[in-house]
Amino acid sequence: MTRVGFIGLGQMGGHMCRNLVTAGFDVSAFDIDAEALARAREAGARAAGSVADCAGGADVLITSLPGPPQVEQVLTGAGGAIAALAPGALMIEMSTSSQEVGRRALEAARARGVELIDAPVAGQTIRAESGTLAIYAGGEAGALARALPVLEAIGDPQQIFHVGSHGSGYAVKLLLNLTWFVHAVATAEALAVGVKAGVNIDKLHTALVHSPANSNFLEHDVRMVLDRGDFDEGFAMKLVTKDLGLAVDLARDVGVPVELAALVEQIHLRARSRYGDHAGEMSAMRLYEELAEVELRWHTSS
Ligand code: NAD
Repeated sequence: MTRVGFIGLGQMGGHMCRNLVTAGFDVSAFDIDAEALARAREAGARAAGSVADCAGGADVLITSLPGPPQVEQVLTGAGGAIAALAPGALMIEMSTSSQEVGRRALEAARARGVELIDAPVAGQTIRAESGTLAIYAGGEAGALARALPVLEAIGDPQQIFHVGSHGSGYAVKLLLNLTWFVHAVATAEALAVGVKAGVNIDKLHTALVHSPANSNFLEHDVRMVLDRGDFDEGFAMKLVTKDLGLAVDLARDVGVPVELAALVEQIHLRARSRYGDHAGEMSAMRLYEELAEVELRWHTSS
């Protein structure tokens, strides 16, 4: 049986780890948060005592960590995972992180004889829970083929995309999030102005959805707010602004000016400072509710 190590048992990793246990893998788990580790143990994983302990016996090691500093520390820091993995093991790094940290990890992995792919995810906690995440993998095709049985236990098999060489997964994920958070601000502005101008929000929403201005955010994701004022605390603003900062950094690295991305990053930073690090990912919509003094909810409850 494939022995899987899992490090980072938070909002996403906790569900992913549990789905691996359910799929029949022999799972060893680690997190610096004792409560998260206890939940993984209850779900059927073995609780490892450290990063190195978790990596030591693993054929495949997965990480789902907040961002680049934690990824660097866990993979290549003192007592890190790559040095503890057996040569020939496979490492699947699933955090939303940077190409730069990924390059350093790849060097360390190659020196150790470990295969590494970057494979960040999309789908919010709801799809982490149901095991139907979308996964964007960067790295060699052979390593992805090896990773597939594990990835199919946590992702939708139809939505596991090989997007290119090492680091491409990180880039695709950052650009996906950037586009989504641009749509969030555009939608919040349009709805707030429309309601303030006296338009029934139900009719405005229907008209926009059936217009050339439609987006997935407008048609589907915004409904969490409109239905019940749910700003999705499953994805915290401290991570949202981390992702937007990384997207702007990526653009800077490749020399492309991105005025809109920089502005949208600042709007989400404002929402984070207004509502806190742990406020939900839709918090920019709250900003516009406050600015326009309106509540963005259906006019007639559906
Ligand atoms: P989270 O903060 O809930 O979980 C991260 C976990 O990593 C925490 O349990 C934390 O204790 C643990 N951790 C931090 N440093 C560690 C270390 N040195 N050793 C071991 N464990 C450590 O974050 P999350 O929402 O689960 O997100 C995880 C990753 O997935 C992030 O990169 C995020 O951007 C990305 N992501 C999140 C969502 C979402 O909806 N939450 C969606 C897509 C992608």
